[in-house]
Amino acid sequence: MILQLEHIYKDYLQGKMTVPVLKDVSLSVDAGEYLAIMGPSGSGKTTLMNIIGCLDRPTSGSYHLNGHDVLGYRENELSDVRLKHIGFVFQSFHLLPKQTALDNVALPLIYAGVSKKERRERAAQALERVGLGDRVGFKPNQLSGGQQQRVAIARAIVNHPSILLADEPTGALDSQSGVQVMELFQSLNDEGMTVIMITHDGEIASYARRKAIIRDGVLSDDAPYAKKYERKGETP
Ligand code: ADP
Ligand code: MG
Repeated sequence: MILQLEHIYKDYLQGKMTVPVLKDVSLSVDAGEYLAIMGPSGSGKTTLMNIIGCLDRPTSGSYHLNGHDVLGYRENELSDVRLKHIGFVFQSFHLLPKQTALDNVALPLIYAGVSKKERRERAAQALERVGLGDRVGFKPNQLSGGQQQRVAIARAIVNHPSILLADEPTGALDSQSGVQVMELFQSLNDEGMTVIMITHDGEIASYARRKAIIRDGVLSDDAPYAKKYERKGETP
């Protein structure tokens, strides 16, 4: 089990009102799974993703990541977990506009304390991996939306995270670029990366091997709680 959320509640305070956003969400994911979390706008998808990604804390509940009780971690420990274990992909790419593709991809490696020479090598490799080996010196505004998202994916995987988290990764893309992004996720998952993708698009969700649906903060999962996921040539 790579991650296990149990009885997660998240409330936001709106003035004096408490707004419940996540209501008793439990979710277990094994290493190597490819999960799509679907749901309408406002249902709590991003809130859940931010908790899974250790960017936000639930109001109550428990969360174990790689067996560690991460809700007991301090902020600096959480940023370390994010840096080493989780790659993030967002709908709007979140690239630095004045930096080249190479520098954008190399950014997490600065925080990881990697030398400049190795940063450049690894960033170039990651860009090669996403099919952009010929665009290393391009800035975001010199790239198409699909290319920008692939730069963002290269940045997400440059530290070799075990989990890739994507929040509406195709939401800003035309359908052909969306398919390219899905093919990339597929091949990363084939290599063993755990992929958790949020989408409200059923066609995009169909690329995942497991689907969960969130409605008004309540998650329903098509995989039974303790279901074991069998992968070719892999022992649990
Ligand atoms: P989704 O990603 O599914 O569209 P979100 O997780 O972003 O939904 O939001 C779920 C609900 O939580 C919405 O009703 C939203 O208004 C509310 N919400 C999200 N973030 C905050 C916040 N920081 N403060 C108050 N309410 C919030
Ligand atoms: Mg959202």
